[in-house]
Amino acid sequence: MFVECKKIPIFACLIFSMSRTRDTYTIPLQSLKEGVFDEVLEIGKEFIEAQKMEGVFDADVHAKVHFVKQKNLHTLSIVMKGTISVACDRCLDVFALPIEMSQDMVVKVGEKDDELADAENVIVIAPDETEIGLSPILYEMIMLSIPLKKVHPNEKDCNADVVSYLKQSANKKTKQETTDPRWDSLKNMFKN
Ligand SMILES: [Zn+2]
Repeated sequence: MFVECKKIPIFACLIFSMSRTRDTYTIPLQSLKEGVFDEVLEIGKEFIEAQKMEGVFDADVHAKVHFVKQKNLHTLSIVMKGTISVACDRCLDVFALPIEMSQDMVVKVGEKDDELADAENVIVIAPDETEIGLSPILYEMIMLSIPLKKVHPNEKDCNADVVSYLKQSANKKTKQETTDPRWDSLKNMFKN
């Protein structure tokens, strides 16, 4: 939790809990006082489905959110660790891929056409913004943590039947290509 309800009026507490049921992955900027706020967010299947993450079937990820609220410039750092379920590029079985990712960001209060708006790791929010949505940031961090080639860390864990089938059909294909009669007639054409 970013705030302890005891320290803020009941009315504010109500608004806060309402906003949390709407979206867990937000920093309720308005109801926070200046200072440091830490929270651990759990990213599971619900998040994956809500964000329609292509190629990701499940997740078990913890994201440690460290937010420092100051007057006009806040800092936000997220450290993410866990596993996501993806299909192995070698055997097509779904497996738990370990991921780890961290990102430090500056949250600037300003206008959207602020020259910093396009800068990397800078989030520009309007002065009347009441919360910071973390879902797009978490989405991007997960997607960036997926390697180009995602395979079972240990080749022994791959589905042996699928791997041998794929190898066989690849061999067949190369054989077919090397003995394709069309190539022979082409070769003969060049010879003549
Ligand atoms: Zn595999």
